Amino acid sequence: MKKRHLIIGAGNAGLSAAATIARLKPEDEIEIISDEPWAPYCRCLLTYYLEGKITKERLFAWGEAIIRKNRLNYHPNERVLSIDSNNLSVECESGSRKRADSILIATGSKPFKPDFPGADLPGIFTLRTFNDALAIKQKLKPGGCWAVAGAGLVSLKTIIALRQYNIKIDLFVSSKRILSQVLDSYAAGLAAAKLDENRIAIHLNEEITSAEPAAGDQLKLTSNRGRESLVDGLLYAKGVIPINPLAQANAPDNLSRDNQGAEPVNHPEPRSDSSKRQDGIALDSHLEYSANIFAAGDAARVFDLVRGRSERLPLWPLAGEQGHLAGRNMATTRPGSLYDYPGAISCNAFSFFNLDFISAGDRVIPQDNPDWHSDKTIRNDTYCRLNFHKNRLKGFILSSANHNNLNHLRKSGPLLARIRREALDRG
Ligand SMILES: Cc1cc2nc3c(=O)[nH]c(=O)nc-3n(C[C@H](O)[C@H](O)[C@H](O)COP(=O)(O)OP(=O)(O)OC[C@H]3O[C@@H](n4cnc5c(N)ncnc54)[C@H](O)[C@@H]3O)c2cc1C
Repeated sequence: MKKRHLIIGAGNAGLSAAATIARLKPEDEIEIISDEPWAPYCRCLLTYYLEGKITKERLFAWGEAIIRKNRLNYHPNERVLSIDSNNLSVECESGSRKRADSILIATGSKPFKPDFPGADLPGIFTLRTFNDALAIKQKLKPGGCWAVAGAGLVSLKTIIALRQYNIKIDLFVSSKRILSQVLDSYAAGLAAAKLDENRIAIHLNEEITSAEPAAGDQLKLTSNRGRESLVDGLLYAKGVIPINPLAQANAPDNLSRDNQGAEPVNHPEPRSDSSKRQDGIALDSHLEYSANIFAAGDAARVFDLVRGRSERLPLWPLAGEQGHLAGRNMATTRPGSLYDYPGAISCNAFSFFNLDFISAGDRVIPQDNPDWHSDKTIRNDTYCRLNFHKNRLKGFILSSANHNNLNHLRKSGPLLARIRREALDRG
């Protein structure tokens, strides 16, 4: 029987689900809704667009190819306000109400906004959408001064883009090292040394506490240490928060099946607890939230194979693999035969100033715990750290300061396979 599928969000999760349904059930109707005014594009490439490394056409080529190849019905500029999980319908900002046989929530995440005094001033940016990139690009001028708050991957990718404009950069990091989520202190030290070589001033344990307008369309930023900086712009990149359009009033009291991992089986979004909402949508092993409502990508919380519990893992490839699996389950005509999502491993690969890193799983381990140990090798321009828990590989960090040393980085494939194998073999 022909079914109707509604996909909220046109990122990697949404488009991967749509492409999978189109391949498995070409006769079904698929509608994709996005609140962005643009055709779908590859969000990870936004900093390369800022840098001038890729054109607008290249940024949009990925999404256009998927829409065209699968003849998908795409509606930009349409925001979903709420989901009625009992009637399988959504209410949109335009006033329209859409019904479907299955719904995918692939709404992604949005950046944390600063809340210090002056945080709303022009010149203070976050970077998530093509509109954000256009606004930043308009403000960039060669030889200017910028500040960046936060030392994760979006910050570092943006710094590389700003360097193309010969911009002086101050990096404010509230923790004691950069890239603290994906590197240990040794590897973070390698990365910090590269930034230093490239004249990026790193201020550790320091946060911006206020902004005021200054002469010449600039901003005066003040930090908790009393440092004052005059800048043309501030990029605030201190993490993301999932977007969850589920209507609270219609949400079921319990999840339809056992939630994976150690999370409680209660409703994933208690009504008055906004901190819980930041956790993402809790799902069962089929990536189903309640009957015929699925979620995938940054908006969701999924089983982390390494940690053995459900977590938010906001990464591009994981959004794609979850979208594919949710799409398969949405396309199925036999409700008893849904596919299980085995779980995800967080993995980051990045490269800057001729320094390459790949890291995955548990990058840092508890100290003074005899169940844990690390093997570290530093040789020439490479670093390898393997982290074990009771002799099972739980995580690794590989780095190479020689762009051509692919052999070292190629170890990541077998290492990831080993983490997966040992995590799945729970015996
Ligand atoms: C600058 C930048 C660089 C990045 N680099 C990397 C990288 O190198 N490697 C990596 O793994 N990850 C990277 N990421 C993260 C990666 O882009 C995300 O993990 C990925 O895009 C998540 O995909 P998604 O489909 O879940 O959500 P998204 O890509 O966020 O898509 C969500 C979609 O839902 C729509 N939407 C949201 N709410 C509504 C609503 N109420 N109604 C209708 N539509 C709605 C949005 O408009 C959007 O189309 C980067 C992110 C950024 C911003």
